[in-house]
Amino acid sequence: MPHMTPASPSPGAATRDFLTQEHGLFIGGKWATALAGKRFDVFDPATGERIATAAAGEAADIDAAVAAARAAFNGPWAKFTAAERGKVIWKLAELIERHAQELAELEVLDNGQPLAVAQYVVNHIVPEFFRYYAGWPTKIEGATIPTSPQGRRPGEVLSFTLREPLGVVGAITPWNAPLPMLMVKLAPVLATGCTLVLKPAELTPLTALRVAQLAAEAGVPDGVFNVVTGFGETAGAALAAHPGVDKIAFTGSTEVGRSIVRAAAGNLKKVSLELGGKSPVIVFPDAVLEQVIPGAARACFFLQGQNCMAGTRLYVHEKVHDRVVDGVARIARGMQLGHGLDPASQFGPLISAEQRERVRGFVEAGRREGGELVCGGTAPERPGWFFEPTVFARMHADMTPVKNEIFGPVLCVQSFGDDELERVAAEANATIYGLSGSVWTRDIGLAMQMVRRIDSGQVSVNMHAALDPAMPFGGNRQSGWGREFGKEGLEPYLKTKGVSVAW
Ligand code: ADP
Repeated sequence: MPHMTPASPSPGAATRDFLTQEHGLFIGGKWATALAGKRFDVFDPATGERIATAAAGEAADIDAAVAAARAAFNGPWAKFTAAERGKVIWKLAELIERHAQELAELEVLDNGQPLAVAQYVVNHIVPEFFRYYAGWPTKIEGATIPTSPQGRRPGEVLSFTLREPLGVVGAITPWNAPLPMLMVKLAPVLATGCTLVLKPAELTPLTALRVAQLAAEAGVPDGVFNVVTGFGETAGAALAAHPGVDKIAFTGSTEVGRSIVRAAAGNLKKVSLELGGKSPVIVFPDAVLEQVIPGAARACFFLQGQNCMAGTRLYVHEKVHDRVVDGVARIARGMQLGHGLDPASQFGPLISAEQRERVRGFVEAGRREGGELVCGGTAPERPGWFFEPTVFARMHADMTPVKNEIFGPVLCVQSFGDDELERVAAEANATIYGLSGSVWTRDIGLAMQMVRRIDSGQVSVNMHAALDPAMPFGGNRQSGWGREFGKEGLEPYLKTKGVSVAW
């Protein structure tokens, strides 16, 4: 049984103050109530208690936000120099650092993650990401191209490309990591000179509203960054279908991704998608087990397994299988479950009662289908939506928990023998997903063979989910369209104009 910590410690004064405010929608630099006047409750997943309410924006609010974004795109934002855009992004990074504790506490209360995780995200991941993109506006360059259109000779024509901002972007983000998801959309929008209407997940709307205030303070002009809180089927669907939106950037489930694509077809807006995953973690017998064991546990249990990159399929060579399974299970059993604001807590709740039922359903399927439950598998008796970190051994490829993205803390272990490289490589790719994956070995030749065989947007060796602002990230197959992060992450926000000048 994992250890338990008692109920909820209280957050700091700034966080309490933010929670007591009646938040509206952030449109054109002003707070607005939802036009239909509706609100929805926001819960702390570690207690199940209501902590705030948010405005339930709908199609008419999306119309207003898109109009504000268009006006800013054509107006003041277009007059910013590249260097000025870079400065604003840098300033936003500083303000996020200055308000790090408040943002981290809000993220914990909204999402459930342990405070140490939220603090690392807010103090390091988010500001470093914004700073990386703060350097880009002054380096977005086109090319001069040697052309001879309509018989022109050299010296009679000059051809070049302009990289222009795509326009008004709609972003729809999930609840599993609210601040990083916002950051991944907002930074390239600001770097390229686009404008944004963000619809954060209804389960976690709070930090987006706080960052909207900080962005305004950083000098982001009114209308450049708009936040419409609300539900997916109303606000989200209206944004995805809106004829005034030039591009939709979506992170969430593969199923909703498909409905985004359908909605976007009306005006053929550009679409980028970062969707689900079912990432393999492959351990060879020569790997350093002192690194493999904590690495495999973290790969699966980070964010309670509610993570698109989660390493949920662990393939271990039979020579080290038992040691790895025992080690990972020992870590899982020893994890301190509790409220994220309790500094002792290492493992938070799942996001909702519904999500917990979904996870429980997969665990029951695993048991029914003959998996060996090594640890976890139940929800502890306490308030909040906790579920124990769970390890299944002796799984095989056609079992329900192996085939499906669970988005919860359930690790499925399989073993392989000496001559089974082909089988492991084939199985690693035998889901609809292709997002992340890792290979653990000291044999660099073997590692590189596996890197080539794994069909996913990211493969790490002797680590898992190696994210960096400069490194492109995204999914193959049904894990997504396009790449975020890095220089490539600017592309979906730019359009190219070919210009030829004759004289
Ligand atoms: P999860 O399954 O992890 O909750 P979803 O893909 O359902 O993730 O949700 C991710 C985001 O997509 C959320 O902001 C949600 O409100 C939004 N969303 C859900 N359904 C739709 C839809 N039909 N159209 C647009 N957005 C949607």
